[in-house]
Amino acid sequence: MEKNNKAVVVFSGGQDSTTCLFWALKKYDDVEVVTFNYGQRHDEEIEVAKEIANDLNIRHHILDMSLLNQLAPNALTRDDIEVTDGEDGELPSTFVPGRNLLFVSFATILAKQIGAKHIITGVCETDYSGYPDCRDVFIKSLNVSLNLSMDDDFVVHTPLMWLDKAETWKLADQLGAFDYVREKTLSCYHGVRGDGCGECPACHLRQNGLETYLKQLKEVKA
Ligand SMILES: [Zn+2]
Repeated sequence: MEKNNKAVVVFSGGQDSTTCLFWALKKYDDVEVVTFNYGQRHDEEIEVAKEIANDLNIRHHILDMSLLNQLAPNALTRDDIEVTDGEDGELPSTFVPGRNLLFVSFATILAKQIGAKHIITGVCETDYSGYPDCRDVFIKSLNVSLNLSMDDDFVVHTPLMWLDKAETWKLADQLGAFDYVREKTLSCYHGVRGDGCGECPACHLRQNGLETYLKQLKEVKA
């Protein structure tokens, strides 16, 4: 365990980043979170992030990234980017190529300002095919570039990189945060907290992982 170290968690108030937050709280003495406001499908997402940060007594930085909305229409005009999960005519955030490039870069610039060495992001290569900036090799490459750009030795951590959704639930459980993550976080595209609406793709992904993990638990106990 590294102690007396400061960390910044890229935080959306969802299952993944909240699990990352608990991971960071176990590992570091001083943890702050950063949420990017880019006109999310639901304002609710920012509210949930605020509430959790408040609840856990964690300093919360909210950075305006509305420029992502200016970039998003470009993605729509490209044939190679599949149009999925659009709700009520709004663009899902996943349309923006290079989003993790931007988020991790801005989080690291913030880390520089507040004297944090560690940056934690919930990106994951296992569950998300098609987003090149979720890949482990990209995050490692970006880590090197960020260190060169600021002449520093930041460490970008990705605790979920090789986990599937069931394993992410297991990690939350191991961190003593299973119920908290299940009840307080927001993954649903329709802005329904906890177990969500049960209908949208984000809910399906989360629910499948949860059911798989709960089944595994039962088998272990049996
Ligand atoms: Zn939903």
